[in-house]
This record gives sequence, structure tokens and C-alpha cells, in this order.
Amino acid sequence: MPIQERGQFASDNGSGICPEAWEALERANRGSTPAYGDDGHTSAASDAIRAFFETDCEVFFTFNGTAANSLALASLCKSYHSVLCHERAHIETDECGAPEFFSNGTKILTVGGNEGKVSLDALEHQITRRKDIHYPKPKVISVTQCTEVGTVYTPDELKGVSRLARDYGLRVHMDGSRLSNAIAYLDVAPRKITWEAGVDVLCMGGTKAGLPVGEAVVFFRKELADEFGYRCKQAGQLASKMRFLSAPFLGVLESGAYLRHAAHANAMAEQLAQRLASIDGIALMYPREANAVFVQLPEALAEALREKGWRFYTFIGDAGARFMCNWSTTEADVDALVRDVAALG
Ligand SMILES: *Cc1c(COP(=O)(O)O)cnc(C)c1O
Repeated sequence: MPIQERGQFASDNGSGICPEAWEALERANRGSTPAYGDDGHTSAASDAIRAFFETDCEVFFTFNGTAANSLALASLCKSYHSVLCHERAHIETDECGAPEFFSNGTKILTVGGNEGKVSLDALEHQITRRKDIHYPKPKVISVTQCTEVGTVYTPDELKGVSRLARDYGLRVHMDGSRLSNAIAYLDVAPRKITWEAGVDVLCMGGTKAGLPVGEAVVFFRKELADEFGYRCKQAGQLASKMRFLSAPFLGVLESGAYLRHAAHANAMAEQLAQRLASIDGIALMYPREANAVFVQLPEALAEALREKGWRFYTFIGDAGARFMCNWSTTEADVDALVRDVAALG
């Protein structure tokens, strides 16, 4: 396998480190600082996140999204509680049971819903179908923004979810590993789809947005963050050189690159979606809203593309092919892929 590959579409975490994050790392690399987050980069990055959301909130940094989600959910639940989410949710299908593990048994209950979004009716059914002591008590609704199929909840859709949660005394968790793509797509203030829409705890994506590593756990209700630091430490998620997780967040937030790069990735996905859809025999499976393009590909074509070296996932969504764009995807990358699809199809 070549050491370096260009222009791949398998996942946005195949991308490199964006220049703004890289530059922030270089700055953070000068001199020495206190460890375990007691450094100026980490406090400045936390302040930048508070400014981004225009509210006071508690911020923690973890190495990855699985840990961020799992620890955030564990902090909201007791072991006999349950978390409701879409059946395609990353916490259900792609975290190897970590949310249950770190919460000592909190059960994940799934619901359906079109285009990767939870159905309110299905949620209400799942919340109310049992009230007895034998059923794991529903405690949290978790939504993914953008969804696993690249669609985006609107502020009103999120408010509908949080209204339901409040009606039944549940909390709202958001898996925002691609939050920047959602904000860029909706072109709204970040607060509109987070705390103003009723989100209590957010896992804010860094890795897929151009950081080397790292996600932020953001508690909009500060009291929910009580003792969260211990949870991170026990789970092996307290970075001793914390500044290398936090400084890149500062770099992309203070420069505006966080949303600028997301808008670029979305625009590349739009080009790709339009051009693929115009090829005979290729159909889009979901509306292209963020940086993902899902298409139905004939099996022989998928195989031929793989043989040419293209990488993409076929296990997410309804058996289609997923092409992800990222901050570094170029028009030339899109051209090359479209040309091969047209030629091999
Ligand atoms: C990538 C991703 C995550 C984080 O995954 P890690 O590999 O643990 O960093 C979380 N949620 C969603 C929806 C993702 O796509």
C-alpha cells in the first residue's frame, strides 16, 4: 500500500491536518507549559469554544469521538437508564459498545426515522411503551448532527426533539463529530442548533474538521459537568500534554477555518453529487446536505473503482456507496473520481 494517497473519499478522517491547526500546534510547541490542561492554550481554546457558542459552558477535550460520546452519555445516566437514538447512530453501530461499557450498563434503545433522523413518534413510543421497573428507564435522547447519512437537522427539528425530551424529563445529547458541516450547511449561528435548540451536552468534532486529533465535550448545563474530569482521567482520556489537543481547536476557531473548511467540504460534495447523479445508472440515496454523497452503484462498478484504487465505504446507509469530502478535497479530486465512474460505469 502506498504510504501517501491523494484525493480519497473513504472518510473525512483520512484527511491531513489543516494549516490553521498545524500553525497552532507549532505555536503550542514553543517552550513548556503546565500539564493536564492547566495551560494557556487549553484555557484559550475553551474560551474560543464559549465565544463560538456565545454562552458560558464547561469544556473538556478527549482524544476521540467514541470516548467523548461514551463519557458524555455516562455522565448523564445511571447504569439502569437507557439512551434513545437512531438505529444508524454511531453510538449504536460504530463504538463497539463503549457507551454501555463506560456507563456500566446503560442500554441503548434505537428508533427508526427517515434520512438518518430520529422520528418523534418512534421516540415517544419508545419512551412511553413501558413504565414498569423491568424496562431500562429512558434518560437521554441522542441525535447526530450531521446524521450518519449526511443529512442535517434544522433548528426546528432539534427543538421538536428537545421539547419531547423535556416533556418526559430526558436530557439531549448531540454527537457533533461533523457539527461544522451542519453549521456551514444551515448557515446559522452555532447556538441555534445547540443550546438554543435544547442540547444539554455536545460532542464537538475536531478530527474530521481538520485537527490532528481531538474532540471537545461541551456541557451547556454546567451542573452536568460535575466530576466529569474524573471520568475522563479514569477512562484514560486526560491528556497530559493537553495543549496539543486544545491548541488546534483554538487555531481553527480564531481563524474562522473551522466553518470555512466545512463549507468547502460541503461545496465539493455538492459538485460530486450533481456530477455523479447526471451519470446514467447512478442515483443519489439521500439529499446531499453536508459533506457526504451516498449513491447506489452497480456492484461491478464499485468493484472496478476499487481496483483502480478508489476508496469508499459501502457499509453505512442502505448498502450504497459513501463518498466523503473533507477540507482538503479539491476540484481535481472530484474530476478524477467522476471521470473514472463515467468511464467504468
Ligand atoms: C467519526 C465519528 C465519530 C467519532 O469516531 P472516533 O473514531 O471515535 O473518533 C462519532 N460520531 C460519528 C457520527 C462519526 O462519524
